[in-house]
Amino acid sequence: MEDSGYFFNFEKMSYVKGRHPAGCILCLARDRSPDVVDLSIWRDELFVASVNLYPYNPGHLLVYPLRHVEDVRELTGEEEGRLLGLQRWLLDILDRACSPHAYNIGYNMGAAAGASISHLHLHIIPRYPRETGIADLIAGRRVLVEDPRETTRRLRELAAQEPFSISRS
Ligand SMILES: [Zn+2]
Repeated sequence: MEDSGYFFNFEKMSYVKGRHPAGCILCLARDRSPDVVDLSIWRDELFVASVNLYPYNPGHLLVYPLRHVEDVRELTGEEEGRLLGLQRWLLDILDRACSPHAYNIGYNMGAAAGASISHLHLHIIPRYPRETGIADLIAGRRVLVEDPRETTRRLRELAAQEPFSISRS
């Protein structure tokens, strides 16, 4: 087994250690609480787009409304329209940042569906044809995970280069 410096050491992510803020984590992130690391790459008066603290793949984004709603049917028409425009813009950014081959896009609505956060959030997950299995990671054969703070830095840069405009939606 080759020893290639492991993939990414979650132990060293100080922001994960010993921090379990009370309340809705997305409301806290929205309010820029000091208890939550800011991985947002963009926000306006309706939505925040953020790198996921626990990414499935690098570039795994969450897009969530500022309003704490828990069901897609609670979104207003304006929010729905904005969200579609944002989705398009963010996919373009991820294409440039990560060159994925595919995407998973969707919601987990309700705990039984796998939602660990009740505040409604859209997942956008870059996917690749041959993703590294956990066995490869443990064997140190592949580097899969990028520090989410580094992903955030890269995506913020791209978002600033070609800002979102409402006319896209
Ligand atoms: Zn919330």
